[in-house]
Amino acid sequence: METGPVLPPMRLDRLSLENFRNYAAQEIFFDPSCNVICGENAQGKTNLLEAMVCLSTGKSHRTRTDRELIRFEQEGFRLSGTIHARNRDFTSRIDVGFGKKKRITVNEVPVRTASDLSAVLNTVFFCPEDLQLIKEGAAARRRFIDNSLCQLRPRYAAALAEYQRLHEHKTRILRDCADRPDLIATLPDFNLRMAETGAILIHYRSRFVKMLSEYAAPAHGECSGGREQLSVQYKTVKTVTDPLGDHKLLVVQLLEHQREHHYGEISSRQCLSGPHKDDIEVLLDGLSARSYASQGQTRTAALALKLAAREIHKEIIGEYPILLLDDVLSELDPRRQEYVLNRIGSGQVFITCCEEDRLHSLLSGSVYRVKGGIITRQ
Ligand code: ATP
Ligand code: MG
Repeated sequence: METGPVLPPMRLDRLSLENFRNYAAQEIFFDPSCNVICGENAQGKTNLLEAMVCLSTGKSHRTRTDRELIRFEQEGFRLSGTIHARNRDFTSRIDVGFGKKKRITVNEVPVRTASDLSAVLNTVFFCPEDLQLIKEGAAARRRFIDNSLCQLRPRYAAALAEYQRLHEHKTRILRDCADRPDLIATLPDFNLRMAETGAILIHYRSRFVKMLSEYAAPAHGECSGGREQLSVQYKTVKTVTDPLGDHKLLVVQLLEHQREHHYGEISSRQCLSGPHKDDIEVLLDGLSARSYASQGQTRTAALALKLAAREIHKEIIGEYPILLLDDVLSELDPRRQEYVLNRIGSGQVFITCCEEDRLHSLLSGSVYRVKGGIITRQ
């Protein structure tokens, strides 16, 4: 993948929330390096990080609908952030509700896609559930890749949206074709378009996973005291011989796989062929981590993948994305805590923790306290 020039880390200088989750109206100014957000349970720590994710991806990582983000009994929410990136200041804004269509602007200019927000602000979000990334199903690992690539590559984001649209439509056709056999005639057209778009997904995913392997291996080695060798392999459609290869050949091989599964798809009424089933396999000393890794190894490998994603953002866009660590440090043992803290020296970071955590003593930076949706800087 092409890489960008080296720039100072991007940062979120100001965030304003109106009727977002449990925040009524709040404006906060942040530290360019480390921001520690503490508070008791259910006070709004995760909600604050969620607002930052929204400002960089246009949507929440926790919900499918924007409605859930609106403060109870309110008509809509507004988020706005001042971001310093590529040596310039930007103001990104999202307005949802009030009986109007969702509106996203950057520097007051309306933008069409979430990629325009990602072109300004990139985030890598890390929460305790991610420590199970290796053991979970393929969908979690695909989400991890998709989330990074959608922020980094507008063409990928567009292809993914198109592929998902085609996939949903084809699934409906397969479901309905027993009653309406005439629909089967429309399948070749869908198959061709899915192969064309699917090849774009494979192009980007294979390159991303290659970089992931390059960055995650030393990270895992360092964190495990050099005892284990981690590698990451991209798993895609069986007929694809070289995922890094030529687009035309990928399309041909995807069509071949679809042909092999034509009758299977009709009889099972499911879309069986295509990169919507992709996965990455994480290996520790050549063995599948999903099957064999211990709890500790799983956590270290997940940590290595997440921190590798941050390095890939840096390599491609030229500056570190902001790192959002939600409760994750308290889940790690002292050795892994220290490892993460050593890694985040450069770049802006937001770390949430509970009051009783002793993390404050480990971190230098600004401390904020959250109580019932109200934030105060200490
Ligand atoms: P924990 O330490 O347990 O993770 P937290 O500080 O991260 O807690 P959040 O997940 O940010 O807590 O949630 C804080 C509160 O926000 C919850 O009590 C939840 O009920 C409330 N909340 C969630 N959505 C909305 C909403 N749309 N409107 C108002 N309040 C909401
Ligand atoms: Mg939380």
